[in-house]
Amino acid sequence: MSLTDKIAKLKKEKRAVILAHNYQRPEIQDIADYVGDSIELSRKAMNEQEAEIIVFSAVDFMAESAAILNPSKKVLLPSLGARCPMAQMLTVDEIKRWKVLYPLLPVVLYVNTLASAKAYCDICCTSANAVEVIESLNAETVLFGPDRNLAEYVEKKTGKKIIPIPEWGFCPTHLLFQPEDVQVLKMQYPDAVVMVHPECSLGMRDAADFVGSTSQMCRYARESPAKRFIVGTEEGLLHRLKKDNPKKEFIPAYEAAVCPNMKLNTLEKLYVALKEEKYAVTVPDAIARQARKALEKMFEITG
Ligand code: SF4
Repeated sequence: MSLTDKIAKLKKEKRAVILAHNYQRPEIQDIADYVGDSIELSRKAMNEQEAEIIVFSAVDFMAESAAILNPSKKVLLPSLGARCPMAQMLTVDEIKRWKVLYPLLPVVLYVNTLASAKAYCDICCTSANAVEVIESLNAETVLFGPDRNLAEYVEKKTGKKIIPIPEWGFCPTHLLFQPEDVQVLKMQYPDAVVMVHPECSLGMRDAADFVGSTSQMCRYARESPAKRFIVGTEEGLLHRLKKDNPKKEFIPAYEAAVCPNMKLNTLEKLYVALKEEKYAVTVPDAIARQARKALEKMFEITG
């Protein structure tokens, strides 16, 4: 029996559902029940009624959010080491320090944060809804973390003052993209449309025809009449883009833009996770309660 068949059998026996992020390996995306970005997967996790186990093939903060939003389910992360470095960049102490400096300002945190940090914010956002969330606030200045590039992007879009916390937070994978590489690709493929993630640098965002989250890029590629796209985000998304749009061509803006943390999850680890029901992700009650409020507020605003 192939590994894929073994996973399918175990999944049925254990009444499990597999949620995979757009940056997962192609073979994981192909066996997942749902593939999506963090907000799409959080919604799926929150509304999951049937399954007893949610295998969250992604990184730590996403599995934590699933455990917070659906506490009655067992949430498993196939690889214990799959931790997002950007999420580790914002500690509770750092948030407290900024709150002392600006006690009246709302704190908005990107979902790419640990649950302990979320517990100290007023509302969460994703890259897909950050602009909408900031616009909904009755405040002209906002503390925002941990991604400085997303903070800059939202500031430009909303016209509000966004103070990044920490001042230097970033995604190491999206920082690999360089506008010079896009210029070279554009010379080669002048008809190509450039799509980039808001976690990319300002130079990359300025070089783009479209800036959006992975789910927004999927929609844009589907609806656009263009036939060729240069893609500025983690290479895993190209699998989904190609699968959804077989007649269109997708070129990575930088081939080596691979998130090593996302790629720690493998088919083998997913199988072991299901078989041994590990690694169970849990969040202490007091933290989960507070973090859940911040996530629910986001859902209230974004529908
Ligand atoms: S791509 Fe960047 S933000 Fe996403 S998990 Fe990897 S390091 Fe974190």
